[in-house]
Amino acid sequence: FELRNEDFKDLQELGQGNGGSVKKVEHVPTGKIMAKKIVLIDAKPSVRKQILRELLIMHDCNSKYIISFWGAFLADPNICICMEFMDKGSLDGIYKKIGAIDIDVVAEVALAVLEGLTYLYDVHRIIHRDIKPSNILCNSEGEIKICDFGVSGELINSIADTFVGTSTYMSPERIQGAQYTVKSDVWSLGISLIELALGRFPFAESSSDDSDLSDLEGTLSPGAVLPPPRSQKEKDKKDKRKSHGVSLQGGGMTMSILELLQHIVNEPAPKLTPEGRYPKEADDFIDSCLLKDPDARKTPKDLLKHPWIDHARATAMDLKAWASTF
Ligand code: ADP
Ligand code: MG
Repeated sequence: FELRNEDFKDLQELGQGNGGSVKKVEHVPTGKIMAKKIVLIDAKPSVRKQILRELLIMHDCNSKYIISFWGAFLADPNICICMEFMDKGSLDGIYKKIGAIDIDVVAEVALAVLEGLTYLYDVHRIIHRDIKPSNILCNSEGEIKICDFGVSGELINSIADTFVGTSTYMSPERIQGAQYTVKSDVWSLGISLIELALGRFPFAESSSDDSDLSDLEGTLSPGAVLPPPRSQKEKDKKDKRKSHGVSLQGGGMTMSILELLQHIVNEPAPKLTPEGRYPKEADDFIDSCLLKDPDARKTPKDLLKHPWIDHARATAMDLKAWASTF
């Protein structure tokens, strides 16, 4: 049935992202707990209605690796998207709380995301476009699901109009302006998995020394990268950029977004480090996600056959027990 804004009671703020904020809410008539995403859309009524229509596709996205959709409605000037609430939150929050995630759990994450991406693409021809740890959610049942995929072309356009949709999980070909393909999602998955296994965003340690990093503690989250801003003036510039909507995702930037994007395009892809710490299959899997040439990179469906994923499937780790540890 119809969801209406007045039927919801706010329970808790879950987080804020590029395009909006997410709250834990109760749908009072049914007592159901949900996550309500509020997206500010600066668009004509006709476009808003079109977005709502496009979001309805989410009703047909039924997979245990995809967040369930309860409905969407307009609450001017916002669009509200109500979805399944995942009580353990997103994987970025989890690793920031418990530290680097065990590689066997990371393998289960890879399996879940690949299954979700394969389902979205094979059944609905949907490309996710925004794979990153904050869009991979976990609950106390030990289920891992993806959310925030690009179902609505109009929504993608509207958000792109207000926010520069640049993400540090973006593949080299996307940075260079090529079309999105499922292989771009595979790159983003590779970056995300390294981040989970290392417990920090992978584009780091390249050329920054300790004094520079400590300089930034408190203002920027740890784990980032290249030449940090040297002066207050540069910091001001960076804040200004941020207010113009350039997203500095992935745990905060000490290198400007442009420098980082250049780095992704020009430098060798990151790897699981130190070498030898992780299973060889894990290294190989990550390397194949992070092939810079999209033609050489595999699709999610192909990667489901990778030995590391086979192994994860065969061992079927107890993720419920894992999730009970935090
Ligand atoms: P981003 O994904 O860029 O962090 P979002 O606005 O999509 O921004 O989400 C903000 C935060 O809300 C996420 O980081 C995540 O931790 C939390 N969140 C989003 N959806 C859900 C959900 N369905 N259940 C629980 N937490 C959620
Ligand atoms: Mg999100």
